[in-house]
Amino acid sequence: MQLQELILELFFPEFCLNCQNLGPPLCQNCYHDLNFYFTQNKIQEISANFEEVYFDQVQIMAKFEGSLAKLLKALKYQSGKNIAPFLARMLYRHLLIPQADLITFIPLHPHKLRIRGYNQCQEIALELGKITQIPVRNLLQKKQNTSAQAQIKNQKDRLQRMQGLFQIREKYQDLVVNKTIIIIDDVLTTGATLNAASQALKKASVKEIFGLIVASKME
Ligand SMILES: [Zn+2]
Repeated sequence: MQLQELILELFFPEFCLNCQNLGPPLCQNCYHDLNFYFTQNKIQEISANFEEVYFDQVQIMAKFEGSLAKLLKALKYQSGKNIAPFLARMLYRHLLIPQADLITFIPLHPHKLRIRGYNQCQEIALELGKITQIPVRNLLQKKQNTSAQAQIKNQKDRLQRMQGLFQIREKYQDLVVNKTIIIIDDVLTTGATLNAASQALKKASVKEIFGLIVASKME
């Protein structure tokens, strides 16, 4: 251990976010409690929700529950930025990272981004980019604020409204043509967000899209 790391350890010790044991954000015990999906392609199950599917493959690391849910909440709300490298290493270990030209992520609405200070999906994407040496680009932007989404009870309405939610940033329009792209998202509920983001990319002539998701709320 380098001196600098040692000093950091002494003054800012890390704890397991689930059981508070000293160590990494998830200790070995809590890590082994996770429900991993391994490298199954979940596209069939998710596709059932949509008339048209715009992504080509989706891998989900584990079920959204217990200690993983705590980890993701901490990353989102408590400036737990240090959790992102840990999650990226988990993705790398448990998924089959596809050969791709670029990595991108689900963007936050600019207003939310200002309040929160960072986008948790972007943090995970940047860390995965460091591990895989695949360039990470902020390709997408959200068109309108959808904080009211959760209140729309009817699932069909909700999925319908998600269409056309994202658009590609103008400066990247040429870059993405005919490329294969990984999209990172932290939590999947119905797959509507991933599908809407993929729709925007396919509209911009992206060749192939692989979704890599940290956790799923689907049954
Ligand atoms: Zn623990």
